Amino acid sequence: MKCLQLILFGILLSVKLTKLELRSEENTDTTPIEGYFLCKSCGTDTLIANLIINDRISEQAISISNFTIGEEKKKFIVVQELVNPLGLKFKLITTKKAHCAKNPNSIWYPGGSWFEGFSWKVCQCPSCKAHLGWMFERSEIVARSNPVLPSDKGFYGIILDSVISESYADSLLMLDRVLRH
Ligand SMILES: [Zn+2]
Repeated sequence: MKCLQLILFGILLSVKLTKLELRSEENTDTTPIEGYFLCKSCGTDTLIANLIINDRISEQAISISNFTIGEEKKKFIVVQELVNPLGLKFKLITTKKAHCAKNPNSIWYPGGSWFEGFSWKVCQCPSCKAHLGWMFERSEIVARSNPVLPSDKGFYGIILDSVISESYADSLLMLDRVLRH
């Protein structure tokens, strides 16, 4: 009987310890999300504002502007305007990570990149396949390992017009509610 009690005590203790470990893991992650950008076509999360990088400016940028999101704590975001070989203009925000469809058959193009030393491929929304922008990876990493998505040396260029910020989406929903009543 004592043996059974000891086993039960052991199980309870290990459950408690696991809970404590989980709680301490949760506590270490206290960085607040500075805002979301969603796919304009279907509303899927595309990127979080925390991961936006403002210093990755192409030498080919024809204009650079900025805007802020967030109400209490403002997040400053740089937008660069670029032109593709067809003459189409795109306003891009650059980010360390974005939610792009994983297509193992897609290939990296080394030529015609807006960013020196980087190859590119198209970024499509994983849910609705809308064109969200491009992924960029260092050409030597592409030659070595041909990754499906950019490594931590790469980045993403997301077309500002293909996404909306969550606060803007919320304000549209509010407006929709107000207009309906
Ligand atoms: Zn979408």
